[in-house]
Amino acid sequence: MTLHLPLPTLMARAHAVKTATVGHRVYLRGLIEFSNRCRKNCYYCGIRHGNRTIGRYELTDEEVLQAVDFAWRNRYGSIVLQSGERQSAHFTARITRLLQQIKRHTQGQIGITLSCGEQSYDVYRQWFEAGAHRYLLRIETSSPALYAKIHPCNPTHDFNTRLAALHHLKTIGYLTGTGVMIGLPFQTIDDLANDLLFFQQMNIDMVGMGPYIAHRDTPLYRYHTLLPPPAQRLELALKMVAALRLLMPHINIAAATALQTLHPTGREQAIRAGANVFMPNLTPMKYRHNYRLYDNKPCLNDAPNHCHDCIATRIRCAGEEIGYGEWGDRTNC
Ligand code: SAM
Ligand code: SF4
Repeated sequence: MTLHLPLPTLMARAHAVKTATVGHRVYLRGLIEFSNRCRKNCYYCGIRHGNRTIGRYELTDEEVLQAVDFAWRNRYGSIVLQSGERQSAHFTARITRLLQQIKRHTQGQIGITLSCGEQSYDVYRQWFEAGAHRYLLRIETSSPALYAKIHPCNPTHDFNTRLAALHHLKTIGYLTGTGVMIGLPFQTIDDLANDLLFFQQMNIDMVGMGPYIAHRDTPLYRYHTLLPPPAQRLELALKMVAALRLLMPHINIAAATALQTLHPTGREQAIRAGANVFMPNLTPMKYRHNYRLYDNKPCLNDAPNHCHDCIATRIRCAGEEIGYGEWGDRTNC
C-alpha cells in the first residue's frame, strides 16, 4: 500500500500528479468560526457541549458580514461558515438569512461552504437553495468500530446518521467534503487506508483531513500518552494527503490548520504533498481562544490582515500561486 512508501517518494509523485491535474493554484477559503455552541459531546473536541471551561459565543450578523467583506475585498474566492452542531428552527433560519445576506453583499461572487454538522435533508436543501454550494462534514473515521470509541454511545452520535447525512448532501447537489482525523488513539494503518478508499467510493469532491491533536479538557485526553510523537503524526498526515492525491487526482484537498500545530511549516508541506486549498482564519480575534478544538491551536493571535500576508508568503514558499477571486471547484467528476 502507498502509505508504506518513503515520504519524499510519495510527495514527489503526488506533486507531479497535482501539477498535471489541478495545476499550481492554491484556493483560499476564509474560515469564519461563527459560533462554538454545540449540542454534541465528541470525545476529542475542545468545544464539546460538556466542556464548561470555555465561554460560549455567537458572532452577530454584522460581525459575520464584516469577515465576509474582508474576504471579498481581498479577493478570496470563498468563505467557510463553521460552527458547533445545533438543530433548532432558530439556528436553521439564521443560517438561511446569513446566506442570503452574504450572496447579496458580494453580488453572488463569493462561494460559500457550510460546516455546521448533521442536519435533516430538508434543512440541507433549504441552505443549498439560499446559496451554499459546498458542505464539509468529516466522517472522522470510516471505521464504525473506531467511531464508536471516540464518540458517546447514543443516537446523537451515530455513525450511520453521519453517513446518511453525507449521502443527503450529495443527493441535493452540494460539492461534498469530508475527512478524518489522523493519528487517533486505537487507529491503525489499515483504518487510514480504508479512509482513503471510503473517499474514493463516495466520489467525494473535497477532503479536509488533519492530525488529531489532544485537548486536555476532553475525555480522549486520557489516551494522549498512546499517541505517536508529533514528527511521526506529521509524516502520517502528509502521507495521507499524498496518497489521496494519487488516488483522486482531481479533487480539492485542504492543508489542515492542525498540521501547523505539529510543525511551523506543516501546511506548506501539505501543499507540497498535493493539497490545493488553504483556509485563512477570519474569525474576529476576541472569539478565537474559545474555538480551541485542540491544545496549541495556531494563529489564535494573528489578525486577518496578518494571516493574509503570512499565508500568501507560505503559499509562495511552497512554489505555488494563489487563485485570487476564483471558487476553484472540482471540475472533473
Ligand atoms: N460541528 C461541525 C462538525 O463536527 O462537523 C463542524 C465543526 S467541528 C469543530 C470541525 C472539525 O474539527 C471536526 O470535524 C473534527 O474533525 C475537528 N476536530 C475537533 N477536535 C479535534 C482535535 N482534537 N484534533 C483535530 N481535529 C479536531
Ligand atoms: Fe460539536 Fe463538531 Fe466538536 Fe463534535 S466535532 S463536539 S459536533 S463542534
